[in-house]
Amino acid sequence: MSTLLELKNISCRYDHADVVHNFSLRVRKGEIACLLGPSGCGKSTILRAIAGLEPIVDGVITLNDVIISSPSLHMPPEKRGIGMVFQEYALFPHLDVERNISFGMRSKSASHAGKVADLLEIVGLQGFGKRYPHELSGGQQQRVALARALAAEPQIILLDEPFSNLDIELREKLSLEVKDILSEQNITAILVTHDQAEAFAVSDAIAVIHEGKLQQWDSAYNLYHDPVNRFVADFIGQGVFLKGELVSPDAVKTELGTLRGDRAYTGGVGSFVDVLIRPDDILPDEQSPLRVTVTQKAFRGSDILYTLKMKSGTPLLASFPSHYNHYVGEEIGINPDIQHLIAFDEQ
Ligand code: ADP
Ligand code: MG
Repeated sequence: MSTLLELKNISCRYDHADVVHNFSLRVRKGEIACLLGPSGCGKSTILRAIAGLEPIVDGVITLNDVIISSPSLHMPPEKRGIGMVFQEYALFPHLDVERNISFGMRSKSASHAGKVADLLEIVGLQGFGKRYPHELSGGQQQRVALARALAAEPQIILLDEPFSNLDIELREKLSLEVKDILSEQNITAILVTHDQAEAFAVSDAIAVIHEGKLQQWDSAYNLYHDPVNRFVADFIGQGVFLKGELVSPDAVKTELGTLRGDRAYTGGVGSFVDVLIRPDDILPDEQSPLRVTVTQKAFRGSDILYTLKMKSGTPLLASFPSHYNHYVGEEIGINPDIQHLIAFDEQ
């Protein structure tokens, strides 16, 4: 797949302070990319820079190999062929759904009505054309906003936390629906979110951002199993760090025993590291001599997240299928089963 959008070393600044530093990203045609990071890390600023709503002070942004932003060139937003959907439902309250959607269309041709009907069908709102925004639920309003963005036939759609005003159940459902709509229409999109479940559900590739800097641009699987640094390891998923000592280039001695990895770790033999243990790295095993005490449990439906205490007092997290129903205070046996051993220099 060819590159559609490229950000090369861009920086953005407000009031003399850089809030985006040297940020690079390449989005291919048809890909759904995601910008994920805590509030204030610069996600919306990057999206606005792509849309042409913020200038960049360094670097270059190209769309289809055409420069749309650089410190010396700024293509106006309406010339970029980029659609946007925002968190707040930015529909015109005095226009019905049909007119909200056709507002986004470039040509006002006769085929117009047919196209509005097609778009309503794509977003699953057949028959809603004559309703006004206040007669729709939050989820339906966001689907109209998506239809309006699609109406302009943009090269790429940018979505800035489009589901965060919705309650959790609807958010999950709508984010999957939107993913299907975008993939079926072969639309390239960038979704901004601070919610990793949403990022995991929707995107092909995820950029994790911290303080305006790209930390890792990768699949959900790799972010979880192969985080490149401590920030990503902490931000993505759950887990604890255990102290360990490198006893060979790829093996670490810890309280859970000697754990073998699938790579060589930095630091020589004898150096100390922090090893990331995910809840799914710990398996229940009543026969195991490795005994721990349950200190907390959280029922999550298909699994239970246990907080466990090792003999030394060090805590561990473990997720077991929920028929392993242990009580707080119970002593149980466990076994580490670590496919991807992640170790960082000791902190
Ligand atoms: P996010 O979308 O990840 O929450 P933003 O891109 O909105 O983050 O903001 C990044 C940083 O820039 C934050 O520190 C925010 O306070 C600051 N910021 C955002 N917009 C402006 C603005 N218009 N003027 C000054 N500072 C801003
Ligand atoms: Mg934002």
